[in-house]
Amino acid sequence: KIRTTVIKNDLNKERIGVLCVLQDVTEKRKLERMRHEFVSNVSHELRTPLTSISGFVETLKLWKQLDDENINEIINIMEIENFRLQRLINDILKLSEIENIIVQRENEEINIIKIIEIVKKTLEPMYKSKNIDFYTDIDDFDYEIKGNKDWFYNMILNLCSNAVKYTNDNGFVRIKLHGDREKIVISVKDNGIGIPDEDKEKIFERFYRVDKSRSKAVKGTGLGLAIVKYVVESFDGKIFVKSTLGKGSEFIVVIPNFKYKA
Ligand code: ADP
Repeated sequence: KIRTTVIKNDLNKERIGVLCVLQDVTEKRKLERMRHEFVSNVSHELRTPLTSISGFVETLKLWKQLDDENINEIINIMEIENFRLQRLINDILKLSEIENIIVQRENEEINIIKIIEIVKKTLEPMYKSKNIDFYTDIDDFDYEIKGNKDWFYNMILNLCSNAVKYTNDNGFVRIKLHGDREKIVISVKDNGIGIPDEDKEKIFERFYRVDKSRSKAVKGTGLGLAIVKYVVESFDGKIFVKSTLGKGSEFIVVIPNFKYKA
């Protein structure tokens, strides 16, 4: 944005110069645009299951003309759409909570090994039903990490549940924890369907799902990795993804080791 003011001589009003103020508004504009896009994405995502539920409510009003099988089918779909709405709302609230208080870091001591164990227990029904070998490789080095425990749990849970979701039956998922005086490294690796090169950066954007048709079969909101990215940033960390289509993916989170931080 450029603002100019002509400067004139007080006595004879002669023009003696031009004051030019340059203001960089690109960052502000970008934020505004992102917010606008987010609101329209949220509206769209919420409207889809709601429209479907409303449509089926109308059909159910004609229940006298429907047989039991039809009614059951409709109720099942409504239940699925209802779950989808709940997931969306939960994820949207989580994302906005993390975004809003990202600067107020909580100072709880975090036991990563314990969190990995809880995540593994939580996902047990999911990975067992697909006969996925879900294992951990933990190197118990000396570390200290402080922050918001719930967010940290959410980050590990999202990465691991994606790994299970996008891996076929009989595959594997491995969580590895290692590090040194400088960093803590958490890797979640699977031998699942993989991510195309052109999507690797975009998957961290809100609502982005790789190839809607392949993702459609798997439940999700496209918000999981956006949440993960925010949480990693709240720990001053970085996240990397390595993936080969059809072979598998690895998400690597690198966080500074607070214990030896100056
Ligand atoms: P979703 O709710 O769709 O899982 P995410 O934000 O967690 O949303 O992930 C975005 C997209 O990234 C997913 O739709 C999926 O296509 C891809 N993805 C994430 N994790 C993996 C993985 N471990 N393997 C393959 N694809 C993945």
